[in-house]
Amino acid sequence: LAARMKVKASEVIAKLMGLGVMATMNQVVDIETATLIATDFGYEVEQGITEEIGIQLLDAQEEGGETKMRPPVVTVMGHVDHGKTSILDAIRKTDVAEGEAGGITQHIGAYHVRSKAGDVTFVDTPGHAAFTEMRSRGAQITDLVILVVAADDGVMDQTKEAINHAQAAGVPILVAVNKIDKDNADPDRVKRELSDFGLIPEDWGGQTIYCETSAKKNVGIDELLENIQLMAEMLELQADASRKAKGRVVEAQLDKGRGAVATVLIQDGTLRNGDYFVVGQYSGKVRAMRDDKGRPIREAGPSAPIEVQGLSGVPLAGDEFIVVTDEKMAKNVSQARSMKVRETELAAGSKISLDKLFEKMSEGDVQELRVIIRADVQGTLEAFAKAAEELSTETIKVRVLHEGTGTITESDILLASASDAIIIGFNVRPTAKIKDLASRENVDLRSYDVIYHALDDIRKAMLGMLDPTF
Ligand code: GDP
Repeated sequence: LAARMKVKASEVIAKLMGLGVMATMNQVVDIETATLIATDFGYEVEQGITEEIGIQLLDAQEEGGETKMRPPVVTVMGHVDHGKTSILDAIRKTDVAEGEAGGITQHIGAYHVRSKAGDVTFVDTPGHAAFTEMRSRGAQITDLVILVVAADDGVMDQTKEAINHAQAAGVPILVAVNKIDKDNADPDRVKRELSDFGLIPEDWGGQTIYCETSAKKNVGIDELLENIQLMAEMLELQADASRKAKGRVVEAQLDKGRGAVATVLIQDGTLRNGDYFVVGQYSGKVRAMRDDKGRPIREAGPSAPIEVQGLSGVPLAGDEFIVVTDEKMAKNVSQARSMKVRETELAAGSKISLDKLFEKMSEGDVQELRVIIRADVQGTLEAFAKAAEELSTETIKVRVLHEGTGTITESDILLASASDAIIIGFNVRPTAKIKDLASRENVDLRSYDVIYHALDDIRKAMLGMLDPTF
């Protein structure tokens, strides 16, 4: 910190002592302390880069850049068989750059399409699980969601799930009503059904853009791409290519020949060969980069999905990737981060649970008890949701975040984890795998056979009278 501010270390230590922090030369200080100290010396600390130790002080040359529009980053979601893959394939065929690579696209979890309407980056992670997993790590990489709904089938379970995930993350939704070529296609029915979820079409006085498509007959794809650009413009997505790169990991793995490799989505700045970086709790130097078509590249700008080699370990999806000035900095930050990771693992028990509800309410930490419900039959869901919401008091609101018939899914756990919700199941038995995931994510998962018992537990928890469970 002292070096970056070009002041003597002893001066910083003296200031720290003034704040009651006994520090040595090589000690890591947290962001709040670093901010206080830096402000005292007339510097500004750039937050959000490394929450733990935001010692990326704004250099003079870092400030002068110019922000420009960057391409939108899009995730396609929807019920199985409604045409997600087909729409993505149809979009890919419009790629004016595709021909050069001979049509061979590497699977790196994200790809970039240059269409006549403009550039788009698609994050092609398997389903919403990845989307929510990232969010539970505080990462937001998607600018907008394309919700694919088949015009002959309407809103189904995974459609609702996708809406819940996108809305919980605050990501705007563009609807593609697909399969309009089918005889029994009924786009108006889709619009009516989706309106119940707040997705009211523009021509009905709402704000949601609907595109009618047939991925099979290649109808409406250009309009879809144009509307993506329209939404991107409204969202005013900006980036400054002259800065040091910042991004997020989309996926990562250990490759036999190349060591740890990660697909990184650049969110700001430009990444170059030879740059030193920190990624999650690891560090490294860019040894080689490839684009989504497998071509070697030397630099990558905003919204580009690229594969990076030269990592010291395999990071997690959603981890932050950030270029730092030199190797020493990279190592220091990654060291501090792995320490922090251990601390957080220890503190992970602090998620919401019915047992801790009263305690957290009293501390003012929660004003809302979020619940995800699963039941064997629809009737139970409705009855319980209504009764549970009626338990709301002035101090705490009970809100049903998601409900569905059938067994508790991985996606439920991830949504609960990301949204700090509890899960209640009626006559549905979670599998061992699900229980395991719930305990890893510290999600409170409860099974009941009678509505009354569940309501009773919630009521007691709100009053701080719940018997501890063993
Ligand atoms: P996904 O599971 O959402 O990725 O759905 P797919 O893209 O795999 O499509 C499921 C099925 O629907 C496939 O048999 C597709 O050929 C078919 N399909 C996709 N789009 C259309 C369409 O616009 N019209 C018709 N008639 N069939 C389609």
